[in-house]
Order: sequence, then structure tokens, then C-alpha cells
Amino acid sequence: MDDQLKEHLRFASELGVAGVSRDPAWRARAGQAGENVETAEKKQPEDAPAGVVLFKSPADALVAVREEIGDCTRCKLHTLGRRQIVFGVGNPQADLMFVGEAPGADEDVQGEPFVGRAGQLLTKIIEAIGLTRGDVYIANVIKCRPPQNRNPEQDEVDTCEPFLFRQIDVIQPKVIVALGTFAARALLRTLDPISRLRGRIFEYRGAKLIPTFHPAYLLRNPSSKREVWEDMKLARSLLNS
Ligand code: URA
Repeated sequence: MDDQLKEHLRFASELGVAGVSRDPAWRARAGQAGENVETAEKKQPEDAPAGVVLFKSPADALVAVREEIGDCTRCKLHTLGRRQIVFGVGNPQADLMFVGEAPGADEDVQGEPFVGRAGQLLTKIIEAIGLTRGDVYIANVIKCRPPQNRNPEQDEVDTCEPFLFRQIDVIQPKVIVALGTFAARALLRTLDPISRLRGRIFEYRGAKLIPTFHPAYLLRNPSSKREVWEDMKLARSLLNS
């Protein structure tokens, strides 16, 4: 990024503008899309670098990411029985973000991540550190349910993860908790098992990333709740630092 662009973005951020895309499609779409996006377009400074769209708020920027996904047919999951896209839920300005693997059956029906049994456990984990689901942001690496809850395949991850990256870049959380082997491996680009990854802190897209066990694993292995509690205390201390 050249110095002038950096300076421009720093200035925009001081004005309270959040969320940036270099994708020219965002600029082209702004005129036809919802009022929020249109307002953001009108707010472009005269000298905004070509192809950069600024949004009024992280909430608006997330709306634009959701619109960009649309009724997605980019990978084969749209032909394999998914009912809807499960985008993400929570505070667009959350300091703490949770990233899971992919929607399951309950999430596919309700359109919200982590609402089934594992999700109810995740809610308790969040509450255990004095927060609510509304305080944090919850998303998955994959936005559509794989058939029979099989593991997502590499082409599905490759197609879908750029949208997760955009969510992270808009929200700019201080701490990301990667839930389970799949999410941790996908984010950190490693084949290490979760048992090797947890207990460590990784620098990730401006956040501290903490891998921990997936709540579905905890349902089968309740004794591992102790380690997850350690990880959550670590997350809380990083949030407060
Ligand atoms: N498991 C996940 O990884 N994500 C969900 O949304 C639900 C279950």
C-alpha cells in the first residue's frame, strides 16, 4: 500500500469510517444496493483512491459483505441440500470473535451459527466470561451446511473463506477464538492437531488467535472443559489488556 493511501485510510478511520474494500464491484453496486451502501458511496471523499469504498460503520460493511455473497452458487454445497447461507451473528464491533467450522442441521434451518446443542454450550462458555452472544461475533469458515455434516472439502474452504476474512477485517476483533481442529487449521494454514495448537496465542490479521476445542467435542469429552476454561480465561485477559 502506498503512503498516500495509508494516510487516507488513517484519516478516514479517525473520522469513524470503518470497512474498506478494494473490489471495484462494491463501488459499482453501491448505487443499486440498499440505502446504507448508497450513503456510504455519497460519503466518498473527492480524492478517494479509485476502487476503494468506505463504509459508515462496520454494520454497513458487513451488510455489504452479505450482499456480495448473495444466494451463493460459487461452490457445490448449493446443490447438496443447504437451505440457506449462515452468515454470522453478533456485534459488528465485537472485541471477541468465535470462528467455527460450518453450519449443522439446526443452523441450516435457523440461519444462525451455533444454535444447536453445541451452540448452547458455546453460549454458556461466552456467559462464563461475563459476556453475552450479543457482545461477541460468531461465524464459520464455511457458510453452508455440508451434507450429513461431513467435513468441508478444500475447494469449499477455498471458495468460502475469503468472506470470513472480510468479516474479520471489518470487525477487527482483538481476540479470535478458533473452535476446533478444522477452524484452527483453516485459519492458521497448518495440519497440526488442535491438541498441539491449543494453549498458544497466534498473531492473526491484527488479532490474537486462540485455538480451543470445539463445543461439539466437549459434549463428547466433558473432561476437556477444563482446558477450554483456561483458554477462555486467556481470552478474557487479552481482552482486558
Ligand atoms: N458447528 C460449527 O462449527 N458451527 C456451527 O455453526 C454449528 C456447529
